[in-house]
Amino acid sequence: MKPRTSKELLQSEISLLPSKSTGWKIRCAAVFPSDYSAAMSNLGFQTLFEKMHNFQMFYPQRFFANLKSGSLEEKKPLSSFQLIMVSLSYELDYFNILKMFKYYGIAPNRKHRHRDRIVIAGGAAPSINPYPISLIADAIFIGEGGDCIENIIEVLSNNPPGFTDKSIILKELSLIPGLWVPELQDKPPEKALSNVNIPSVTTILSSFASFPNIVLVQIQRGCASNCPFCATPVTFNPFYNYSADSVLKQLHRWEIFPKRIGLIGSAIADYPQLTKLFEYLRDSEIYTSSIRIDRLNSQCLNVLKLSKHRTITFAPETGAQRLKAELGKIITPEDIIAVSSQLPASTIKLYYIIGLPSESIKDVQETIEEISFVAKSLSKKKFTISVNAFVPKRNTLLENCSMMPHDELTKRFELIKSGLRNIPNLRLDINYKRKSRAQWVLSCGGKDIANVLVNCKSTSDFLRNCRANGWDV
Ligand code: SF4
Repeated sequence: MKPRTSKELLQSEISLLPSKSTGWKIRCAAVFPSDYSAAMSNLGFQTLFEKMHNFQMFYPQRFFANLKSGSLEEKKPLSSFQLIMVSLSYELDYFNILKMFKYYGIAPNRKHRHRDRIVIAGGAAPSINPYPISLIADAIFIGEGGDCIENIIEVLSNNPPGFTDKSIILKELSLIPGLWVPELQDKPPEKALSNVNIPSVTTILSSFASFPNIVLVQIQRGCASNCPFCATPVTFNPFYNYSADSVLKQLHRWEIFPKRIGLIGSAIADYPQLTKLFEYLRDSEIYTSSIRIDRLNSQCLNVLKLSKHRTITFAPETGAQRLKAELGKIITPEDIIAVSSQLPASTIKLYYIIGLPSESIKDVQETIEEISFVAKSLSKKKFTISVNAFVPKRNTLLENCSMMPHDELTKRFELIKSGLRNIPNLRLDINYKRKSRAQWVLSCGGKDIANVLVNCKSTSDFLRNCRANGWDV
């Protein structure tokens, strides 16, 4: 798709946020170092922007990696902002923020940056491992935003960057639970547990978002399961179900009740008020995050049957019986077929992982057989098969495992491609490139990686220097 201009993007939006033409004193940047479409379908970024917007003193303006003309709102260069808040969902976005800083002439290393400028980073990637960006960001937020973003903004309102000495601001910020100020604190603090019991909701709708014109609303935080490869529970638990009333209250902020709603949660099948919610939303088109088939009871299945879902997503992770048992996620091909055939969805999306520790070629063959069997059994449905490489994540049960060597992974992905060729109702989406390996270092590396990252010229330069430091990337 051709890049959109800021005018086109702004015209595509419907916003709940009031206009900010007067009353503000400080222009601040809300940066999402990836595409506009991904940003506007990201509740973390939407929440950050809304909370910044709610403070009278601030006029937040958005920046995206694919928008070269400056801020979305006023086309101002990033270098003219003294406060820069960055939302990082994905480790490879670190390279985009470095590119953006370079493009706008901002020093990537906080030690060499203008003393008046404050860069604060947060999001899933630094919450999993804040060390790699500890030389880029002045402060790093660990955990889910919620009320802690408000604490940060309150400190900055009382001590505006550019008007208050930076050392005073950093001192104040270091007192906020969950916020790491590497200049003053040797180690990151414990993650902050948000007390906020208000679920996040889309406040800016766009037809150019990855989920176009869909109002997303959070129904759960964290995850009740503990899959050994997944960072969600360790990063965002304690697991919490937002009440159906609070979810509906958030949706009612839209004067015209949303027609298309995305329910965001890691354990939708376990959501205790699912029936109540779906009854209320029966006239809307409902989308959900991936659903655990092994947790699906008949009540939840009945509810899903009523949804106008065109795509439903499951994550069997592997087709190998042995690995299913190891992961504690026993989803059989028969389960996938039985559930999918009862749902009105025309497309079934399935997530698989290749390169799990101890995975053998026979396990890969079993995965190919499972996918092929499921797709051929339901020939009237379309299948999108998303296959990702296993990347160890910090603090998970598999954090000390290595990523499978590149040549071996490439061989296994080739096997998958040739094994699933010629199935007409199947589309294969392989998400692995050499640069994906940087994710491993960025999610498990320590302080030494901060130096490699801040000084790298490109992703391949970063990988080269990691190899020189003993990483098999
Ligand atoms: S993979 Fe899904 S079900 Fe498992 S812990 Fe992560 S979010 Fe929960």
